[in-house]
Amino acid sequence: MSWRAVVLTLFPEMFPGPLGQSLAGRALKDGIWSLQAHDLREHGLGRHRTVDDTPFGGGAGMVMRPDVVDAAIAHASADAPDLPVVYLTPRGRRLDQADARRLAAGPGIVLLCGRYEGVDERVLEARQVEQLSIGDYVLSGGEPAALVLLDACVRLLPGVMGSDDSAGEESFSDGLLEYPHYTKPAEWQGRSVPPILLSGHHASIAAWRRTQSEDATRTRRPDLWAAHAGAASPDHRIRLPVSPRGHN
Ligand code: SAM
Repeated sequence: MSWRAVVLTLFPEMFPGPLGQSLAGRALKDGIWSLQAHDLREHGLGRHRTVDDTPFGGGAGMVMRPDVVDAAIAHASADAPDLPVVYLTPRGRRLDQADARRLAAGPGIVLLCGRYEGVDERVLEARQVEQLSIGDYVLSGGEPAALVLLDACVRLLPGVMGSDDSAGEESFSDGLLEYPHYTKPAEWQGRSVPPILLSGHHASIAAWRRTQSEDATRTRRPDLWAAHAGAASPDHRIRLPVSPRGHN
């Protein structure tokens, strides 16, 4: 059975969007996964199919009503009761590769895309909805976040990536950022490829790449480095870089 994605959205025409192309698009055509974008407005109230209302307590903006969102989740879950329901929100836990692996290993996902100020908290509690954020910034809607989460999951499904695209060495696969890549020409605008990569010594290349991975993680992502070093050696005292904002 294929991995199933159901997206609850006020803008179903945004899907599959970029996921109709390339790896994910081919996998969609091949039936490795399926995608259904369901219009939340079908569950809206009255002649205008209203889905939102003013916030209790006052303040700017509108809030998506719990009864409307609940009806949409019930609709999605009716023929797919096993799928976890995830709400994309800046208030959620930060999405990471472990989440993508966990969700890709399951039967699929129901994704709730917010708009306005977000969704009434009670329906998230009542439906035990998992809340995930794609980063510390605010989007105008959950749809781009849903596309990000789906892309991260779909590429991990069996048969989606070729052997050349193995996920085994990628960033985050073992808690480290990946090493840098180089291709032809070996000399470009006065810049040479690191000589070790032209040596043909596989063990030395692997060791060099490992060091590059560790250096990049230590300097760019001290948070990942601390977790990685701590996991490798719980008693080891970790020396963090002076500036934790040392990105380049
Ligand atoms: N009032 C909300 C807050 O301050 O947390 C922001 C609402 S935002 C304008 C509208 C919708 O965009 C949210 O309900 C959510 O679905 C989506 N969204 C915005 N930023 C997001 C992020 N970083 N990750 C996931 N979804 C996001």
